[in-house]
Amino acid sequence: MDTVVIGGGIGGLATAAFLQQRGIQAHVYEQAPALQPVGAGIVLAPNAVRLLRQLGVVEALQDRAVRARIGWEFHRWEDGRILLAQDMTQCEQLYGEAAWLVHRADLVDVLLKAVDPSTIHLDHRCVGHEQSAHKVSVRFANAATTESDLLVAADGIHSSIRHSLVGQVPARDSGLCAWRAMIPSDRLPERYASPTQTLWLGPGRHLVHYPVSAGRTVNVVAFTPAAPGKTVESWTAAGKPEDFRAEFAGWAPMVGELLNEVTQVGRWAVLDRSPVSQYVYGRVALLGDAAHPMLPFFAQGAGQAIEDAAALAETVDAACSPTQGLVAYERARVPRTARVQEASHGRATVNHLPDGPEQEARDQAFADQDPLKHSDWLYSYDAQAEAREAVRSL
Ligand SMILES: Cc1cc2nc3c(=O)[nH]c(=O)nc-3n(C[C@H](O)[C@H](O)[C@H](O)COP(=O)(O)OP(=O)(O)OC[C@H]3O[C@@H](n4cnc5c(N)ncnc54)[C@H](O)[C@@H]3O)c2cc1C
Repeated sequence: MDTVVIGGGIGGLATAAFLQQRGIQAHVYEQAPALQPVGAGIVLAPNAVRLLRQLGVVEALQDRAVRARIGWEFHRWEDGRILLAQDMTQCEQLYGEAAWLVHRADLVDVLLKAVDPSTIHLDHRCVGHEQSAHKVSVRFANAATTESDLLVAADGIHSSIRHSLVGQVPARDSGLCAWRAMIPSDRLPERYASPTQTLWLGPGRHLVHYPVSAGRTVNVVAFTPAAPGKTVESWTAAGKPEDFRAEFAGWAPMVGELLNEVTQVGRWAVLDRSPVSQYVYGRVALLGDAAHPMLPFFAQGAGQAIEDAAALAETVDAACSPTQGLVAYERARVPRTARVQEASHGRATVNHLPDGPEQEARDQAFADQDPLKHSDWLYSYDAQAEAREAVRSL
């Protein structure tokens, strides 16, 4: 069996790594001429780290990442009062792995090392595919073509393969924009380098910060109402630091102190899609953001792509034919990823409640819950066991 994977992001690279580990041929085709160190912070929760451990990449990653001690530490915008905090030191005992705060570029770099370099083809933009009863053929903008048993579309939220299968439906605009900045830790008081995923919740907006790159850098991401008409998503778009600061004027001093050190900031639209029930079309499977792009409020976009990758390798390896493997993949992944997509979408309202009775009820609910139990359904999930079960159920 051989597989063509379109997209050299986290989902595409993880797919190739899991397939190759099982001796299944996989080639990755990426449109960019080079895999640049683009992006900012990503949270890797135990459900994803358990899978990455199997690829042997966690050892390389941990020297460049930060092991989270506290996760989801919610603060009230005005006075910094802590509303909820997860003790992540229990994760290894409960879920077999810690959670890690990483730079996306570091994750891409270690995943690249888990893939046979001769199977990565840069500067190959997929422009079309056709399938027959036995094969799927793929065309690229540079006039190259290839053929395989399976095609995995890991080409991101604006996936052209998805568009060719289901029609050109634009992604859903959340009405929010994301601001992203990286600040050298030595420009900030030491408390900002604490291994904590810190969130500040306020009316209509929230701000997140945590250290990455072995604590050398503090990653800041914030969500505020988007300017009307600003719906373009680009990981390299620039914003103005003074506009960013103005969005959080009047917030607790720790937020102001952090934003005062921002000298460069990215700004872009925040998009997702509603869950769908079909990820597989014959020999073609959608994976990662191409299948289930989600708002980033559960920090699971990369994690779900990694789960997809591990599940797909499991099902195509175990099923009696490649296409049956994809059927099982869809069966295993649709319910899980739809739940994460919906939960992430709902968080936009919950995180941004205006001060008043609903916000007070939310804060009380935070105070009443067991913080780690709240995420148990995410962290304890075993994507490979579910995939094996889906194959058995065929
Ligand atoms: C440049 C970039 C930076 C990001 N930075 C962050 C970040 O800082 N923090 C965060 O939480 N998330 C970030 N993300 C999103 C996060 O990586 C994804 O949500 C998640 O990892 C799912 O990954 P994916 O592989 O499904 O999609 P993506 O990561 O979007 O990868 C898709 C890949 O497919 C390639 N591609 C698209 N169309 C074609 C085509 N026609 N032919 C060939 N290749 C194609 C793209 O160039 C890209 O490399 C970033 C994504 C990108 C692309």
